[in-house]
Amino acid sequence: MNKPFSAMALARENVQLLTPYQSARRLGGNGDVWLNANEYPQAPDFTFTDRNLNRYPECQPANVINRYAAYAGVSPEQVIAGRGADESIELLIRAFCEPGKDAVLFCPPTYGMYSVSAETFGVAQKVVPALDGWQLDLDSIAASLDNVKVLYVCHPNNPTGNPIREQDLRYLFDIVDNRALIVVDEAYIEFCPEFSVASWLKEYPNLVILRTLSKAFALAGLRCGFTLASAEIINVLMKVIAPYPLSSPVAAIAAEALLPEGIAVMQARVSEIRSNRQMLCDELGKLPLTETVFPSETNYILVRFRDAERVFRSLWDEGIILRDQRKQRGLENCLRITVGTRAECLRVIAAIAALEMP
Ligand SMILES: *Cc1c(COP(=O)(O)O)cnc(C)c1O
Repeated sequence: MNKPFSAMALARENVQLLTPYQSARRLGGNGDVWLNANEYPQAPDFTFTDRNLNRYPECQPANVINRYAAYAGVSPEQVIAGRGADESIELLIRAFCEPGKDAVLFCPPTYGMYSVSAETFGVAQKVVPALDGWQLDLDSIAASLDNVKVLYVCHPNNPTGNPIREQDLRYLFDIVDNRALIVVDEAYIEFCPEFSVASWLKEYPNLVILRTLSKAFALAGLRCGFTLASAEIINVLMKVIAPYPLSSPVAAIAAEALLPEGIAVMQARVSEIRSNRQMLCDELGKLPLTETVFPSETNYILVRFRDAERVFRSLWDEGIILRDQRKQRGLENCLRITVGTRAECLRVIAAIAALEMP
């Protein structure tokens, strides 16, 4: 044996070229105030008592599916559970897009995994930048639909915090005219449930909705998310999903989180975060280093600073970790700040206010 081994040379070409998703965890940092991943700031309490870990779990645990369906106002046949909304993003590509032929479409600045998942599977990407105010550029979308099988619409959008206008979403369904799936990513919808399009499943057979327990349910470490769609679409996804996507502990904790008490606790968290968000926006808006605090319907805010580099670095050095968005299209000098506890919000405000001092 004389040939040197190179795993990279053996890997698929698109994988060789792939830049992995720069998750908050991968980017690291050394802090005690973590405001870079839109997590809930405190850990929920669960007791896990399952004594059957010798057995494989159900593929789609009935109590998790039934409770999520009841919570979302859909029927259990319209729900599939998996390892977070991220798995749903990928599952849709695996099930619906032919590599080298079909395409996905999305509208930056937006969530990074639509692009990473398409790249991983060798599926083309149609990138239609959002308009001012980060609404959909419907004319450009209409002109870009060739070969598109899946459109991802992040609603409300990450990292900008705005919901997509209802009339624009409706018009998008007209334009697409059942030629592709329209996937509405509702990862943050618990913070603004009045904007959910879940009730539209009755009207549009090509609508798919992504949901997660990672944000308002405070369970990012659990890795549990849901796809809502017609029973027909769910059946297609069932063909490609892993045989045991949820481990038994995940299923047990998800089922508990979806009991009426669990949902009430989630809703209390949402009001707390919304009130902290108001305070954070008001106070940041008063600081001279702040240029614009963009309105948000979520548990994070996007802020344009006069010197974002200085804000990001100084807070990082103090152990306050924010998310740098300056490399995203149109987001020069912008940082995304997760709304944490009241004390965490006050630390952010004090730390940025201190930067004004001569
Ligand atoms: C956090 C997030 C996800 C991923 O959620 P998981 O369920 O943790 O995989 C998906 N979409 C958006 C817009 C997000 O912000």
